[in-house]
Amino acid sequence: MIKRTLKQIAEMVSAKNDITPFSDTLISGVTIDSRKIENGNLFVPFKGEHVDGHQYVVEAIGKGASAALWQEDVPNPPKNLPIIIVDDCLTALQELARKYRRELNVKVVGITGSNGKTTTKDMTASLLSLKYKVQKTEGNFNNHIGMPLTVLNLSEDTEVAVLEMGMSGRGEIAFLTKLACPDAVVITNIGESHLLDLGSREAIAEAKLEILQGLKPGGLAVLHGDEPLLMERINQYKGNIELQTFGRSDSNDLYPIEITQLGQGNRFTVNASSEVFELPVLGTHNILNALAAMLIARYFSISFEKMIEGLQAIKLTNMRMELVEGKHGEKIINDAYNASPTSMMAAIELVANLQGYEQKILVLGDMLELGPEEEQYHVKIGAGLNPEQIDLLFTYGQLGAHIANGAREALGENRIFAFLDKEELIQELERHVNDNSLVLVKASRGMKLEGVVKALQKD
Ligand code: ATP
Ligand code: MG
Repeated sequence: MIKRTLKQIAEMVSAKNDITPFSDTLISGVTIDSRKIENGNLFVPFKGEHVDGHQYVVEAIGKGASAALWQEDVPNPPKNLPIIIVDDCLTALQELARKYRRELNVKVVGITGSNGKTTTKDMTASLLSLKYKVQKTEGNFNNHIGMPLTVLNLSEDTEVAVLEMGMSGRGEIAFLTKLACPDAVVITNIGESHLLDLGSREAIAEAKLEILQGLKPGGLAVLHGDEPLLMERINQYKGNIELQTFGRSDSNDLYPIEITQLGQGNRFTVNASSEVFELPVLGTHNILNALAAMLIARYFSISFEKMIEGLQAIKLTNMRMELVEGKHGEKIINDAYNASPTSMMAAIELVANLQGYEQKILVLGDMLELGPEEEQYHVKIGAGLNPEQIDLLFTYGQLGAHIANGAREALGENRIFAFLDKEELIQELERHVNDNSLVLVKASRGMKLEGVVKALQKD
């Protein structure tokens, strides 16, 4: 984590007051949460909608913070305490991170995309750890506050930092990448999340490509090569970057040749090596995430042979696509964490392909924030279901009902159960599951479908 004197910090954030009496005070680390103060921290208060962090400044210093920032427009800064007055606390935090990054001798990998950022970040960090001292974004700390905090948490001796960059609108990835100044970047894919804010998949592709704006000249860009929206637009950057692509098709630099599903993961081979890789994570989409991570690892001079070990050791943040056992002996894939059409289709494909189950059941809820065409996206998911591969469909929610509508022709009325009430859904579902069932539970976070998993799960 950042370790500097208060004098140095004051310069980095363009302090508006004189902090001379505290010049030599040592700061180690930055926090924005007064409940998580550790000795020596710089506390950065934010004016939130409900609470103003400034009211905790004195307490934070009492609890061991070495100093705190204070936003100029907040009256009555406490006297005789190590306080740095700044224009704006958020800008100061970001500026501190931006300058600190430039003082560090660290290589940075930036990861964005519609789905699979956290997964690819974890996989990339796992592979790079085979050879380097690596730090990565904890959990999902990927926004304009979380990413700067991640940067400020980097140690001086860290060799590679793997940073997740998320967005909720245009310009945000540009901001993050310019702050982080990556040596290599990944765009995992283009999906439909944020359609509501950005209007079209083209606009989403452009927003993700902003990550190239901060890439060091000559740096590596790893792109999903099967996504035309990315490949059409990358030309304007060529010459200034090194481009490598991954994907399913054989036009990519790295693609899978043979895939075997294992009980809890996949075994696969690739075009560029004779090794056989095992990935202890479900879903072929996770092989794509692994391919992106492997291209980054190769750029950092890690051999494919060595990567075998790194892929086997992969542990994902909060294990997406968790396989849990239900009371009736059924297996449940808990993917209630989030959903977009792309990730929904990936999860359904996974269920369709998993062997060894007599009955496959989908429990699907609303995919939120898809904009004016939200109904059609749901209908399409239903219409795409293969009656040979999927036995029963349960839907939850107003939009979920459109998945049911879309599926009527393919599956037939008696294999579809649409609910607006979660308890009723659970009751009906429990009538159907048995020890030969595989159940996928997936919807946007806001639908709280983890409640269904909980109800089914063995205690
Ligand atoms: P967030 O925007 O919430 O940070 P993220 O981009 O970090 O999401 P992950 O947390 O890695 O994504 O994965 C979320 C879900 O997306 C997974 O549970 C899985 O269903 C799906 N997913 C992951 N990778 C892919 C992929 N390459 N293609 C399609 N779907 C994917
Ligand atoms: Mg994430």
